[in-house]
Amino acid sequence: MSDVRVRFAPSPTGLLHVGNARVALVNWLFAKAAGGTFALRFDDTDAERSDPRFAAAIERDLAWLGLAWDARVRQSERLADYRAALERLKDAGRVYACFETADELEFKRKKALRAGRPPIYDRAALRLTAAERDKLTAEGRRSHWRFKLDDGAIAWDDALRGPQRFEGKNLSDPVVVRADGAFLYMLPSVVDDAALAVSHVIRGEDHVVNTAVQIQMFQALGAPPPSFAHLSLLMDAKGANLSKRLGSLSLESLRDSGIEPMAIASLLARLGTADAIAPVSNLAALIQGFELGRFGRASPRFDPDELSRLNARLLHAMSYAEAAPRLAALGLSSADERFWRAIRPNLERFSEAKLWHDACFGDIPPPEDSTREFLRAAARTLPPEPWDDGTWGAWSRSVGATTGRKGAQLFRPLRLVLTGREHGPEMKVLLPLIGRARAAKRLLGAA
Ligand code: GLU
Repeated sequence: MSDVRVRFAPSPTGLLHVGNARVALVNWLFAKAAGGTFALRFDDTDAERSDPRFAAAIERDLAWLGLAWDARVRQSERLADYRAALERLKDAGRVYACFETADELEFKRKKALRAGRPPIYDRAALRLTAAERDKLTAEGRRSHWRFKLDDGAIAWDDALRGPQRFEGKNLSDPVVVRADGAFLYMLPSVVDDAALAVSHVIRGEDHVVNTAVQIQMFQALGAPPPSFAHLSLLMDAKGANLSKRLGSLSLESLRDSGIEPMAIASLLARLGTADAIAPVSNLAALIQGFELGRFGRASPRFDPDELSRLNARLLHAMSYAEAAPRLAALGLSSADERFWRAIRPNLERFSEAKLWHDACFGDIPPPEDSTREFLRAAARTLPPEPWDDGTWGAWSRSVGATTGRKGAQLFRPLRLVLTGREHGPEMKVLLPLIGRARAAKRLLGAA
């Protein structure tokens, strides 16, 4: 059993989008490639912003992608552990009470910026005397709590960014508990990573500074810090941060629009690496040869059109065995292997199979501008069955010879009246599926 343990730690305050999905997928692939475990942790200590419905939606999205978790943790159920860690840090002098209001802090921040200083908390609370603290408490002020950073250097070798170095004295002591008693993200994450013996924290590069702070928290709690890897963040096609398009790029909306989970996984597993992006039909194939180090430092662009193209290519290569249960679930009773092979090259979304099922086997409305005489002549020329791949060529040639039409004049109305659509799979594969009786009915019905 490997000692690789990773976790994906979303805050259930919204839907997962492709950026989160990438972090989840990379963690999962890293764990599976190493024979390790993948935990799902809900960072839900903020009771106001967290919503169990989002937690359920996140689980649904991860399951849809195929990212099964080995364990699930809800931070809201682990508050006793965080309180115990907080008490230990208080006793060790690493956490201290502060009484400033939000307005006072904002004033200090602006003042520092105006004076050209970085807006680092000035630790005024540490200079309060016991009497001053008692007085503030007596006035009804409730304290919030900050972690006291050590001044010295904080360094780690990031698996993706290389050697990182921060100076504790250049960072602000982070608030760990709000005045209302709620734990903020920073400390619970460390307590959990230590308790679950997380070996590798893989997350977005927006957490790099948090890592510097959290390394000191691990040390203060006497726990060895895990290894860290910070992934560059995805950009949209215009080079802007993806977060502006969260709605349309949520996994839920991609799923609703007919995107296959493996299209997403195929793209996200390669985006930002030098490897070619190609449709991969299952996660096991992505685990093979997965290497965290292949992700580069640059922010890759996420292009929804690229996702759509991958989606189409996955469908074009999908076996009938894989498609069959889904065709049945769509209620397409005549969708046999011959049908699937005929329509597969034309699909962009799986649900379009229904449209082609109607085109082959259903009732389709006659087009208005059909040339009656021409279609009647075409119907008279229909050869007897059995039909095969050669029927369309032979028949359309004889329709051409009988009616004097050729090119688009010949093929366009035939395709339209026979399938109800202007474009689609090759007529030579569709025509035998449609069959003589239906073809004659469509030609005469429209004529
Ligand atoms: N809840 C944090 C986030 O969603 C987790 C960060 C982490 O992986 O530690 O950004």
